[in-house]
Amino acid sequence: MSEPCFRMSKERITVENKRIINNDRAVDCNQLVPIKYKWAWNFYLDGCANHWMPTEVPMQRDIEQWRDPNAFSPEERHVIKRTFGFFSTAETLVGNNLVLAIYKIIDNPECRQYLLRQAFEEAIHVHAFQYIVQSLSLDEREMFNMYREVEAIYNKDEYVMSCTDGILDSDIDTKTKKGLQKFLKNLVGFYAITEGIFFYSGFVTMLSFGRQNRIPGTCEQIQYILRDESIHMNFGIELINTIRDENPGVWDSEFDQEIIEFIKTAVSLEHNYSAECLPTGILGLNTDLLKEYIEYIADRRFERLRLPKQYNASNPFPWMSEVIDLKKEKNFFETRVTEYQTGGALEW
Ligand code: MN
Ligand code: FE
Repeated sequence: MSEPCFRMSKERITVENKRIINNDRAVDCNQLVPIKYKWAWNFYLDGCANHWMPTEVPMQRDIEQWRDPNAFSPEERHVIKRTFGFFSTAETLVGNNLVLAIYKIIDNPECRQYLLRQAFEEAIHVHAFQYIVQSLSLDEREMFNMYREVEAIYNKDEYVMSCTDGILDSDIDTKTKKGLQKFLKNLVGFYAITEGIFFYSGFVTMLSFGRQNRIPGTCEQIQYILRDESIHMNFGIELINTIRDENPGVWDSEFDQEIIEFIKTAVSLEHNYSAECLPTGILGLNTDLLKEYIEYIADRRFERLRLPKQYNASNPFPWMSEVIDLKKEKNFFETRVTEYQTGGALEW
C-alpha cells in the first residue's frame, strides 16, 4: 500500500479534505469528528439499535420439534442442515475479508466505525449458527466442514474468495486504476454477492419454516441476521458508489461488463446451490421459485450499482419484503434493552 492507513496528522482536519479511500497524509485516520459521511455514522447507529445476542433467543421448542421424528420430512431436514452448513462458515469468511482486506484499505474513520460494528455482528452471526447447531445437537463436524465437503457450497465460497486475490498483498496500490478496480470488485463480491445474493436462498427457505411456526427460535435468529445483513449490504453499496464518485474514470464501461458478468456467474452458482438444497419442492418452495427470487434480488443489486437489470424477474415471495422491513416492534427487543441497562452495571 502506498500510504500507511494508521497515522496521525499534525494539522486540524476539515470535512472537505476527507475521502473514503486514499486519504491525504494530512488527514488523520484516528479522528472521527468532523464527520463527513453521515450515512456511515447512521448505519453504525442503526446497527447498534438492532443489537441482539443469539443466547437470548429460547431454543426449547426448536429442540423438541427437531427431536420429533415426524416433525420434519427428510427433505426438510436436508435443506435446514445445508443452510446451517453454508452460513456457519460464510459468516466467518465475510468477517475475515472485512478485517484483513476492507478495513486495511478504507482509511476514513466514520466508515471504519461502521466496519468495527459490522465485524462484531459477523461474530454474532457465527455465534448464532454455533448456538443453533449445538442446541439441536447436530453433528458439528458435519456442519462446519460442509463448506469444503458439499460442492455447491464450496463453489460459492471459492468464488468470493477469488476476489481477495491481490487485495491481501501489502503491495496492492489503490491509487492505480487497476488496483482500485480490484478493490471495488472485492467490495461487490462481499457486499452485493455474498451478503446480497448468496444469503438469500437460505433466508427464504428458513423463514418459510418460521411462517409455519416451526423451529421458531432458529427462525427468529435468522430474521435478526437478515435485518443485520440488509444494513451491511446497504452500507457496502453506499461505500462502493461513493468511492466510484470520488474517483472519476475508475468505473468505466469495461468495468461495467466485468461486474455484470461477475454477478451473473454468482447467480448461476446460487441456482446450483438451491437445486442441491432443495431437489424436490417443500413448503410452497421449489427451485424454479427460488431461481426467480434470486434473479429478482440480483436485479435489485444491479440497479443499486447503477447497472442495467439483467433478468426482469418478479418477486415470488412478496412476504420477504415485510420481513426485511422488520422494525423494533417485537417484545424481545424491549425486554432486552432493559436487561442490558441493568445488567451492565459493575459491582466492585
Ligand atoms: Mn453476517
Ligand atoms: Fe454481514
